[in-house]
Amino acid sequence: MIILGLEGTAHTISCGIVEMYRDKVKILSNKKKMITTKEGGLTPTQIGEHHAEHIKHITETALKESKTSVKDIDLISYSHGPGFGNGLNIVNIFAKTLSKKFSIPVIGVHHGAAHILIAKYLLNIRDAIYLYVSGGNTQIISLEKNTRFYVYGETEDIAIGNALDKLARSLGYGFPGGKIIEELAKKGSYFNMPYTVKGMDIALSGILTFAINSIGKHRKEDIAFSFQEHAFAMITETLERAMAYTNKKEVCVVGGVALNNRLQEMVRIMAEQRDAKYHRLDKEFLGDNGAMIAVAGYHYYKYGFKGDVFKAKIKSRWRIEDAFNLE
Ligand code: AMP
Ligand code: MG
Repeated sequence: MIILGLEGTAHTISCGIVEMYRDKVKILSNKKKMITTKEGGLTPTQIGEHHAEHIKHITETALKESKTSVKDIDLISYSHGPGFGNGLNIVNIFAKTLSKKFSIPVIGVHHGAAHILIAKYLLNIRDAIYLYVSGGNTQIISLEKNTRFYVYGETEDIAIGNALDKLARSLGYGFPGGKIIEELAKKGSYFNMPYTVKGMDIALSGILTFAINSIGKHRKEDIAFSFQEHAFAMITETLERAMAYTNKKEVCVVGGVALNNRLQEMVRIMAEQRDAKYHRLDKEFLGDNGAMIAVAGYHYYKYGFKGDVFKAKIKSRWRIEDAFNLE
């Protein structure tokens, strides 16, 4: 079956078209447009305006590149949440309008579930612990019996992506900040920062405040390096604890912060030391993208999905444990 996926929960508007046959993924196209800034962050208004301006063109380009026409599409999938209301509304209305106009079934999926499901299908993962690290999330998750996500640990306050973005902003850079911090860190050296692990959970606001207060006292390269070393070690420590607890032998990092080579390296070393299989997803599918929403749509369709998208309100907050229920 051919699925068209639409993403717009945050900074990126994207349309992906995938063909699924017996759980095998063929990516036909995956077009994205992301908002970036030279300094400062993003506002919800900016996000809504950006997505409204580009959604039609992105979808047309994705269809053209995939060499399919709307009539070939068997299912439309869109991110129903969580995320910024302004962006969610645009994608929601566009997906349902397409569905009505061309009489194609439509499914609303959970954005975090989609980050995980594209890794699962593309890499043929059977039973992994997933580390989901993005602008709004830092969670350690597994998928049980294809129908239930379990969260073993998470951040108690801010997400790692958000922390990296705030640190970059305080250093005078724009969005996305994680990439800038990674570049700075390459020339940095180590100094001590707070390290807060609480069982399977972590807290990042203490180390973030400390890092911001270090500006002017330490080189920015050293701040970036030390922040990464501490924060990523905290995350990897809790990830290892979840692997030991569940006895799972596969691990995969997903979400925008998974683009970071140092975080991937720490997780790979931890996996090797535990004789676990380390999966690395291609970077095209790590940041927000429409193809992941399309693959998630296939999974939802296959395993049953509760809820009527035409009745459900957008969910700007939506826990991944409830991902398969729109009611
Ligand atoms: P997502 O919401 O999943 O698209 O992830 C976006 C987040 O990924 C933002 O907070 C970015 O700063 C972060 N990010 C992007 N590239 C990198 C990188 N190379 N290292 C760390 N974080 C990154
Ligand atoms: Mg994301």
